[in-house]
Amino acid sequence: MNTGFSFSNDDKDDVPKLFASDKFKKLDAAVQAEVKRRYELVKGNSKALKNLIELVKSDSFVDLKDSGIQLLLLKALGNRGEDKVFREVIVSLAGKDDFKAFDTKLRTKVIEDLDTFATRDSYTASKLTDDDKTFLLEKIRKTSIFSGKSPSNNVARNTLNNIVSGNIPIELTDEKSKTCGDPAGGITFGCNLPGSKVVYINKTANDTEYKDFIETLCHETNHALNNSVVLPANVLDKFLNEYRAHIVGKLGRGDLLTAALVKEFLDKLGHDRAKTPNSYIELADFYENKKFPDYKALIDQAYKDADKGTLVDAAEMRKRLIAIKYGTPYVVGTNNTDNR
Ligand SMILES: [Zn+2]
Repeated sequence: MNTGFSFSNDDKDDVPKLFASDKFKKLDAAVQAEVKRRYELVKGNSKALKNLIELVKSDSFVDLKDSGIQLLLLKALGNRGEDKVFREVIVSLAGKDDFKAFDTKLRTKVIEDLDTFATRDSYTASKLTDDDKTFLLEKIRKTSIFSGKSPSNNVARNTLNNIVSGNIPIELTDEKSKTCGDPAGGITFGCNLPGSKVVYINKTANDTEYKDFIETLCHETNHALNNSVVLPANVLDKFLNEYRAHIVGKLGRGDLLTAALVKEFLDKLGHDRAKTPNSYIELADFYENKKFPDYKALIDQAYKDADKGTLVDAAEMRKRLIAIKYGTPYVVGTNNTDNR
């Protein structure tokens, strides 16, 4: 598309050209007025000014033809000032087909998610490079779009809300020492840091199939919400904690809980140690330990129930654990929570 103007080295020189361009004149009068108002606010700051110009002259911004959303994007960018990464992500967002397919309400939610997340320590930490910030915002963008496409998926939305609100911080790391648990999808919960609520994401998770990313993010966020479980925890705490995290992970990626899934979880969590030979070892040991026959019976019963079509959810599993008198403060506690 011919923009009707070209850029000089000094962005200020481009502003008259921008305002005189056909592209600019096609914008709604309210959007034009807001751009001019914001220009007056940032004209002394060359980086913030460049951000404003680059957004307004982008085809994706102009082609939105939705003045409410354009005003919201201007506001979000204005909140970020000189942040080039944020501008690049919202310019890219405005051009995405799945974003454009959304109605105003869903578009607003995605912008709000990005705008709010960008105020959190997870994003503003000084150690983050521009690449790190791009990585994080892209994850928020994709998760928010995923959530918008499946409005009945409460797990995905609640997971995102916990992260965007700052309740559960996320941090990029490749330090294995900080993490344990479930490295699938390159995401782990910092469970060996007492009191930690942080979810760690390894940047190599970038190549992960997106639903796997969502599943693992929901799973690990569930652990983070229940950070009372710090290794070495009571083994039944760990079992319940993993069982519920597995369930919310699958629900978060949009799958329904099925008998096959319940049996898969039970197998992984000790019913069949060959299924996961290198993880959940203590759960498999506990299942096989003859000193705890009630626990083995509980697992076997849940397995049989699944075959008959009765799926034991996390709340029911908790009740059954209490019933066999293996209730620990975590198992009987009401202060642990699910992101569902
Ligand atoms: Zn887990």
